[in-house]
Amino acid sequence: MPITISVLKERPNENRVALSPTVVSKLVKSDYQVLIEQGAGSRAFYRDEAYTDAGAKVVDRETAVKDATIIATIDQPDDAVIDQMQAGQALLGLLAPLTDLDFVKKLAAKKITALAFELLPRTVSRAQTMDVLSSQASVAGYKAALLAADSFARYFPMMITAAGTAKPAKVLVLGTGVAGLQAIGTAKRLGAMVSGYDIRPASRGEVESLGATFLTTSVSATGEGGYARQLTKEETEQQQAELASFIAQNNVIITTAQVPGRRPPLLVTQKSVDEAKPGTLFIDLAASDLGGNVAGSQPGTTVTTDSDAQIVGAGDMASQLPASASDMYAKNVQAVITDLTTDGALVFDVDDEVVGDLLVTTDGEIISNRLRSAMDLPERKPAVADTPDEAADDKGAE
Ligand code: NAD
Repeated sequence: MPITISVLKERPNENRVALSPTVVSKLVKSDYQVLIEQGAGSRAFYRDEAYTDAGAKVVDRETAVKDATIIATIDQPDDAVIDQMQAGQALLGLLAPLTDLDFVKKLAAKKITALAFELLPRTVSRAQTMDVLSSQASVAGYKAALLAADSFARYFPMMITAAGTAKPAKVLVLGTGVAGLQAIGTAKRLGAMVSGYDIRPASRGEVESLGATFLTTSVSATGEGGYARQLTKEETEQQQAELASFIAQNNVIITTAQVPGRRPPLLVTQKSVDEAKPGTLFIDLAASDLGGNVAGSQPGTTVTTDSDAQIVGAGDMASQLPASASDMYAKNVQAVITDLTTDGALVFDVDDEVVGDLLVTTDGEIISNRLRSAMDLPERKPAVADTPDEAADDKGAE
């Protein structure tokens, strides 16, 4: 029996699809069977025929779920899918496990093997081709800068014309990780005057190498694995107060700050929003149901304030460039599935440094230590041979 990878149609507000026809064709050549739910790629401009031509079977949703060895999705599938899944089937996607522990418990109770891209150990070199957070953040940062240029009421570049000279737009990017750096690069190419700010001083070099100015505050905070840590209440207030003057000097503010598994930090306070000049544009990439970086931002909505500033809740930027985002996502999915495959079967090695981190659950157990810590469960240690004799036996068997 070949490994069967199923792809489902995502929720109505999600335009991406987990596999592209190009990647399907590679998987089929490598002896995987691929099932695509009818219409799954249509919002990314991949029609059913393109998948059929690539060697996939286009089926209804029920068949795609029932016959899957592994289901690849972008976001959490709806309850009906989880209800239909059987013990031992696998699920791979952006499953939001760190912020939805009830979902994790449900997966464990159903004995589904779930792998969440949010848990990938991104600094391990073998994991880089699987890094959905980077591939999608890069798309999001690019699209955010384009959206900013399109929505701003003035030119981005300096314009010298017979009718006078237009000054370049001043763009400030708050949070200069993967998305922020891509937004900076894109805004620079569009001719704006760009500066960037991050709580991690290490990002100065990356910002300056793009030709932008790096701004700092007296608060700095590098956490584990190159990420920012959550700030204390005092640090947050201090940072907000110092950022207010930077914000007031810029026309466009693109915010991308995240702390994994936590509510995004509030960088632009209500006071800064209220004091913004008319026409100021805030693009909040962190806008989500958990909150955002800008006071008053609403996911998927543009809010015009009393002072005529605009706040765009832009948490869905990758979905707004669906074909490119899906192409990259599909390659990340392919990398994970290829990595999991041994002798024509999916093997979930809980002790592997990449797979063990990616795994939310398998066989009813919660595997990821990040999740176990969030759920107050004891840390799971890799299996080791109990006695020197057993270790020697294991070696002999190799
Ligand atoms: P992210 O999406 O978690 O956060 C975006 C940015 O927001 C980060 O730069 C973070 O420092 C910043 N931030 C968080 N709280 C902030 C605050 N209060 N004020 C200002 N900024 C704040 O981050 P990311 O883009 O996924 O990347 C984070 C880090 O991981 C970067 O250093 C990146 O280079 C690194 N990374 C490494 C690899 C790798 O080694 N292969 C891959 C991906 C990312």
